[in-house]
Amino acid sequence: MMGMGGAAIMVPNWARTSGKIATGTAKRSVRLAQISDIHLQPELGAAKGFAQCLRHIQSQADAPKLILNTGDSIMDSIATKEPRTELQWDLWQKVVRDDCSLPMEIALGNHDYWGLDRAKSETSGNEPRWGKRWALDALELKSSYRSFDRFGWHFIVLDSVEPFQNGYRGRLGEEQMAWLKGDLAATPKSTPILIMSHIPIVSVGLLLNDLKENKDHNIEIPGGRMHLDAPQIHSLFRQHGNVKLCLSGHLHILDRGEYDGITYLTSGAVSSSWWKGIRLDRFDYGYALVDLFEDGSFSHEYVAYGWKTVMES
Ligand SMILES: [Zn+2]
Repeated sequence: MMGMGGAAIMVPNWARTSGKIATGTAKRSVRLAQISDIHLQPELGAAKGFAQCLRHIQSQADAPKLILNTGDSIMDSIATKEPRTELQWDLWQKVVRDDCSLPMEIALGNHDYWGLDRAKSETSGNEPRWGKRWALDALELKSSYRSFDRFGWHFIVLDSVEPFQNGYRGRLGEEQMAWLKGDLAATPKSTPILIMSHIPIVSVGLLLNDLKENKDHNIEIPGGRMHLDAPQIHSLFRQHGNVKLCLSGHLHILDRGEYDGITYLTSGAVSSSWWKGIRLDRFDYGYALVDLFEDGSFSHEYVAYGWKTVMES
């Protein structure tokens, strides 16, 4: 099953109303689009697919003002040599230049980090563009984590990827955690906050897909799938009291969890199953439309943009 045909019914019904907690009386602050896990590459029609997605967003009758990209912009640079990494970033810049006239705020994904697998990427770790440097340059970002105020909301972009051994794990690290603490403390409690991170801070879908019982009868979840520091992050959010919505990607699934009035949403993937079909037979090639309201409520809708898997021989 490679997801050919039947795309019209691929977005489950619940996804159309997921997160719809807007009161109905609050004024809308802004409409956003969230894209995630584009995994751009020369193969499988990915560039055409991504362009189709961008055009679909921009041709919405009620068009978003800003795109939030929660990472994995390119297929992979963790285990990829220099020339192919170059090729993917060039392709990214071309598609965005040609087909995107909206501003885009970008979080880095694990696949955007270059050379973490030193053997496969044939890197030493001393290359000037090793790690996040190349992605920051290609995406014209000053820092992999940052915050800004717009539309009456405070936006925090986190960097979920902590290089670890020959790969990565989902963690902010001490420096970023201290920065986050300070940033939250400096944000008025009356300002609603939206968080972007590539790796979900928490994901109920991950538990239901990947939960394993280890030999000691404990639950095991790989540390690259979800934030290992989720309890500390959530506790900071709770202390602030007005963190409303956390958007992530990474798992290429749609799910939603809510705790202490904070909603954690994983918003599918532009590339669905890495352009090879429909992820888990139900998470179509798509993006999310997110409406933010003045009272801190929001609505979230997953939209399939009509891409059909390209079969390559
Ligand atoms: Zn991904």
